[in-house]
Amino acid sequence: MHHHHQHGSSGSHRHGGKKNIKVAFFLNFFFTIIEIVGGLMTNSVAILSDALHDLGDTLSLALAWYFQKISIRGRDNTFSYGYKRFSLLGAIINSIILLVGSIFILIEAIPRLIQPQPSDAKGMIILAILGVMFNGAAVIRLKGGASFNEKVVRLHLIEDVMGWVAVLIGAVIMYFFDLPVIDPILSLLISAYILLNVMKNLKHTFQIILQGIPVNADVNAIKSYLAGIPQIEDYHDFHIWSMDGEYNILTVHLVLNESLSMDQLNDLKSAIKENLVRKGVHHATIEFENNQEKCALINC
Ligand SMILES: [Zn+2]
Ligand SMILES: [Zn+2]
Repeated sequence: MHHHHQHGSSGSHRHGGKKNIKVAFFLNFFFTIIEIVGGLMTNSVAILSDALHDLGDTLSLALAWYFQKISIRGRDNTFSYGYKRFSLLGAIINSIILLVGSIFILIEAIPRLIQPQPSDAKGMIILAILGVMFNGAAVIRLKGGASFNEKVVRLHLIEDVMGWVAVLIGAVIMYFFDLPVIDPILSLLISAYILLNVMKNLKHTFQIILQGIPVNADVNAIKSYLAGIPQIEDYHDFHIWSMDGEYNILTVHLVLNESLSMDQLNDLKSAIKENLVRKGVHHATIEFENNQEKCALINC
């Protein structure tokens, strides 16, 4: 699943990213159809498991493409923060589809452990070679990138290649020996891998929805920066959360140790916000107060 890691939030990255997603979507979609047809023709649950995985990849690309279009819409009267959070919806929809798909495959694969059905090993070898070539080409295409997103996507694609290598090895063994049980075993392994990824993605998505500390912001560095500002005596009501896993929001109360003019406060605030952007906070709301203010009493 290429999920939320794929869409870049920076404006310059967005256009190229969109085009890449489109190309990747059509390639994956085309290959998924080949796999589903091939899996049914060869009577191989291992191939069908890989088809489900690639269907998940295709869907997450389609959803990323769709939600990226939505998420660039600005704020309006319905959604005051804008539409960035809609991408989380895509991750959840995709996880549900993969969960349901895995259940169907397991219902088919588990009885075959006890009563294996013959699969067309030769057809499986051809499909597995196609799979290695297709996914290998995607890895090579992505080789140059060094950003975190690109590393995540590359790791995923390498895992996809490994999956097809496993199917290839299994099919070659099945070609020479009468061991049809290899096919459902491979299917179970691939399903376990799919489910593991689903759990990982759901955990990440719910962490964001439940307003957990963003993983891409160094909260300790932000706190020690705030504590180290000369004009600031103390801070409290520190809240940081992420809109979509990339765009982070902070609200904080800063207690001043001296009386400052409005102009001085404006300059101080701009400087703080600039520094916060560099520490992974894209939207900060800062409230200044002096040390006489008992703001905790009015529940702020
Ligand atoms: Zn994949
Ligand atoms: Zn306060």
